[in-house]
Amino acid sequence: MEEALTRLATTDTLTGIYNRGKIEDSLRQEMARAARYGSPLAIILFDLDYFKKINDSLGHSIGDQVLKEVAATVGRQIRETDVLGRWGGEEFMVLCPGTVADDAVTIAEKLRQRVAELPLGVTISCGLAGYRTGESMDALINRADKALYAAKHAGRNLVRMAA
Ligand code: GH3
Ligand code: MG
Ligand code: MG
Repeated sequence: MEEALTRLATTDTLTGIYNRGKIEDSLRQEMARAARYGSPLAIILFDLDYFKKINDSLGHSIGDQVLKEVAATVGRQIRETDVLGRWGGEEFMVLCPGTVADDAVTIAEKLRQRVAELPLGVTISCGLAGYRTGESMDALINRADKALYAAKHAGRNLVRMAA
């Protein structure tokens, strides 16, 4: 019963992955661990490209299926220690403990490619950032978000690393 309740409180109902609250909690934990042990940590934010068009042309419930499929695809690609969550709407976050930003580029690039290969006709843009000891959660997320914006601005279906 308790397990079922915890699951309910931490899971995104549409995709079955972690919800916003849970991914934020996990990020807080991983930042603390990285700060304490001096281990690297990278985060990847990604957002579906032109998703509004999918909803408008195929309908909201097909849009929902696309979100589920993308989440499942990414979930299959990441490592056991990585954490995937739905950040909101059609935006997701991957935590990569023990990973420096340069290596997270490779991971994000693989995710981008796998999604682009799906027979859904949808792509993702990724922005990533490596945690800097002492920086706040907001600052880290902000840098990843700016990198995501840069990927969108550069044409979408791209990966960009934060400065
Ligand atoms: P961009 O490439 O700049 O990201 O363009 P976009 O069309 O993806 O971005 P925009 O923010 O204009 O649209 C996001 C859309 O995502 C609008 C919203 O209706 C849709 N959306 C958000 N959450 C859900 C959901 O749970 N299900 C469905 N089907 N659509 C959703
Ligand atoms: Mg979008
Ligand atoms: Mg969005």
